[in-house]
Amino acid sequence: MFDSLKKIFGTAQHRILKKYEKLVLQVNKYEEKLHSFSDEALRNKTVEFRQRLAEGESLDQLLPEAYAVVKNVCRRLCGTQVHVSGYDQEWDMIPYDVQILGAIAMHHGAIAEMQTGEGKTLTAAMPLYLNALSGKPVHLVTVNDYLAQRDCAWVGTIFRWLGLTVESLTNSTPHPMRKSVYASDIVYGTSSEFGFDYLRDNSMAQSKEEQCQRGYFFAIVDEIDSILIDEARTPLIISGPSSTSRQMYDLLKEDVAYVVRLQRDLCNRLATEARKTIEKLGRLEGGERKKLTKVEEAEEKEAFRKLWLVSKGTPQNKILKRIKEDPDLRAEIDKWDTYYYGEPNKEEKAETLSELCIIIDERSNEFDLTDKGINGWVEAVKDPSRITDFTMLDLGGEYAKIDDNLELSEQDKLEQKIVLREEDSKRKERSHNLRQLFRAHLLMEKDVDYIVAEDKIIIIDENTGRPQPGRRFSDGLHQAIEAKEGVSIQGETQTYATITLQNYFRLYAKLAGMTGTAITEANEFKEIYKLEVLVIPSHRPCQRYDANDEIYMTEREKYNAIIKNIEAVHAKGRPILIGTESVDVSEKLSRILKQNKLEHTVLNAKNHISEAEVIAEAGKKGAITVATNMAGRGTDIKLKEGVAQLGGLHVIGTTRHQSRRIDRQLRGRSARQGDPGSSQFYVSFEDALMRLFTSPRITSFLQRFRPPENEPISAKVLNKSIETAQKRVEQRNYSMRKHTLEYDDVMNRQRTEIYSFRNEVLTTNDPFRLAHDILESVCLQESQHHFTSNKSNGKWDPEGYRQWLMSHFPITFEPDVFDNDYIQLEEIETLAVEKVEASFDRKMQHAAEKIGQAQELFNKTSAQLLKKPEDILKEIVRNLLIRHIDSLWQEHLLNIDHLRTEVSLRTVAQKDPLIEFKHEAFALFDTLSFRIKTEISHALFKFEVMLPSLQKFEPTAMPLKSIPAPPRLSYKDLSLLPEI
Ligand code: ADP
Ligand code: MG
Repeated sequence: MFDSLKKIFGTAQHRILKKYEKLVLQVNKYEEKLHSFSDEALRNKTVEFRQRLAEGESLDQLLPEAYAVVKNVCRRLCGTQVHVSGYDQEWDMIPYDVQILGAIAMHHGAIAEMQTGEGKTLTAAMPLYLNALSGKPVHLVTVNDYLAQRDCAWVGTIFRWLGLTVESLTNSTPHPMRKSVYASDIVYGTSSEFGFDYLRDNSMAQSKEEQCQRGYFFAIVDEIDSILIDEARTPLIISGPSSTSRQMYDLLKEDVAYVVRLQRDLCNRLATEARKTIEKLGRLEGGERKKLTKVEEAEEKEAFRKLWLVSKGTPQNKILKRIKEDPDLRAEIDKWDTYYYGEPNKEEKAETLSELCIIIDERSNEFDLTDKGINGWVEAVKDPSRITDFTMLDLGGEYAKIDDNLELSEQDKLEQKIVLREEDSKRKERSHNLRQLFRAHLLMEKDVDYIVAEDKIIIIDENTGRPQPGRRFSDGLHQAIEAKEGVSIQGETQTYATITLQNYFRLYAKLAGMTGTAITEANEFKEIYKLEVLVIPSHRPCQRYDANDEIYMTEREKYNAIIKNIEAVHAKGRPILIGTESVDVSEKLSRILKQNKLEHTVLNAKNHISEAEVIAEAGKKGAITVATNMAGRGTDIKLKEGVAQLGGLHVIGTTRHQSRRIDRQLRGRSARQGDPGSSQFYVSFEDALMRLFTSPRITSFLQRFRPPENEPISAKVLNKSIETAQKRVEQRNYSMRKHTLEYDDVMNRQRTEIYSFRNEVLTTNDPFRLAHDILESVCLQESQHHFTSNKSNGKWDPEGYRQWLMSHFPITFEPDVFDNDYIQLEEIETLAVEKVEASFDRKMQHAAEKIGQAQELFNKTSAQLLKKPEDILKEIVRNLLIRHIDSLWQEHLLNIDHLRTEVSLRTVAQKDPLIEFKHEAFALFDTLSFRIKTEISHALFKFEVMLPSLQKFEPTAMPLKSIPAPPRLSYKDLSLLPEI
């Protein structure tokens, strides 16, 4: 079975597979021995393995036997009924050798690339079982809740049989139950459930008991490319209402709309003029070109220049789009692109572009305001001084000016600087709001990027086309769109906790993955996650016929060809699966199918469960199924009776996707497990991929080889250029993910530090010791400001230090305790620390007495009052520390958000924003650590234990239900009250 591998997969992969192949033989040998075991004896293997691990054997050593046990259990399960997703299914699986191979690769932390239908779910059972023997947490990450439940019920049968516990974690798992879910040996769940639980445990849990996870040992990520690549562009965020709001979208929205309208009208006018000229010169009908006079030639040239300009100002302009359908005319427009691209014409290009108000770069999804645009802005706001709305203050320069002004007193200087700083931050906020408003107008399209429903903006997922209620565009863009669409602007939110999936998965000691499509992204997996991709051969050779792409000039021709193809294949009775890029295209295709009287099912990616059922039906004779390419991922399409003889499932791709991986994913739906099947992709030059990412030279090529209407262009060159375009997009998306990650890496270090401190606070038995540590650290930190270690040269300011101590803590020192000729710095520090700590201890003692009194008073009526006073006090201190860490950390996250926006504005000054960001984030973190300690040290002296009021507890004759709860001891945190 492994013979032909070398040719296909290269030598490195070959070597590894050879090695694992030997292990497969061992597994099979062991398994034969197990045939004679009783069920009882086989079950006992789990206990035996655990024992041997405890005695020092390694997981690697146990692998062959453990996998053999899993295989043997499968054998015994054959013929039994397993209840999965509401149906009874007969167990009929015993791992094939290639599955054991994939299972070995995953135990060693690799991504196993196994085609759709090869049985990855069962494959994962082996490494899950082996690693769970360690008793440490083992997680299997699925793409959706439905699959988490299905796989847990299905192959979970093996673990249950062997005496391990397995649970699934879904969005509807109630919070109080999660701790027990995580306590089981193996957990199936989605990446966002795992990730959010991590964030909640570390940023919201108020006690150890409230934390539900128990660590991160081994995770297998199913469909790993979908999770780590498609979904990894946006981080997980827990947010809540912000305490401060600085947004001014409402104030700015009318004026932004005005400038956008200016631009739209301008481009419409240019496009209309150009079309008239072209029409007049007889170029709209195509065919023979008439000879032009010199004047006409100039006119024509000017018309195309205008159209080029429109393509930079409003790329989606209808007239422009219509004209571009004709490849000759399109080429004329593109000529200008080539012309302006030339170095000598740069200035002319800039001049031409300055006719616009806004220049849009569709490829990079960016835009720029020209001087004309800024003038338009001033016109809109009717205030010439607002020309500064788009420029930043040179804060450093302005400060220097103030400093150099000899007429100002120090106090004046300070005051002026404060005014300036406020002006600066207001301007930054305004310019940020402005940019987002423009972005909302120019780059975000209604019904494509979002929908408007019930006074709300709802995001549409670009991969699945699913509406995503509850999720919001970040960084104010959501508010900007709300302003644009005139719905109510939701309050600003503030980040409480955030992490990228990448960084979440790095928490695991060992990570592995499986998918049908990883090899094209092997580089990224290696670079970011240190994961190798291993291509596992299929159980049976693949029988799919992949036809060459058919490429058409226009979308219209493309759809005609698709319908023809569907009719021909459907006539033979073969089932057809048509993959689309979005829900929008699915619906369009459905309309065309209806017009042609073709019965079909549209899979609207809205519900995972029905999704799975529909897709499972897609292998029936004569079935036509239309689905977005992400829909129903993870459910396989089995051919129904007689279909294989007809030729199996035919897959149609309605466009090439932005990455080759997604094309492969769609193709892989057909011809699973050696079934017959075929696939065919259709592409048109109006597809986004072709429009934006192919080289302009293609257009001139097309002009020469343009086929008659409704005939595909067949040329090898084009296949190549489609692939180049895809590689370009893949590269761009990779950079975007890397970018997100580079920023998150900076945060990751800070997050790890804060979370581990927070966890120490939650788990320590002695919060008083932590309090002491903090007090000591604050005293030492401050002493550095008053003393240098060498007394004779440098600072020596005992009086200053004494004053500081007395004003920060409720203690006094005699004026001369530190002021003595022989005293060393260390002695001073020891004196200070001891006194502060003693004072704190006295406060605790006093508080404990008060609690004791309260307990007497209430006659120990409630459980709360039966606790030892010291334990109650510990909880109070713990709680106080946590609250300060959390609120300051949240404030820090907000500062970081602002910093990010700010550094991105600095690109102009030739500075690398990432380096700037790292640098300043580091400084901010320093400030944060300092503030956490200082504020906690103050708060420790500023709380008060309060006795519950007696009145509330008088027995009354109220109906049972409304008897007030027994009084609880509470404490008032004076540090949270305004200072008097
Ligand atoms: P994948 O995730 O690789 O696309 P699944 O795990 O969904 O594949 O399995 C696909 C189908 O193959 C399932 O219906 C399963 O019952 C079947 N299958 C998997 N492994 C085996 C096996 N060893 N023997 C028989 N059928 C198997
Ligand atoms: Mg699967």
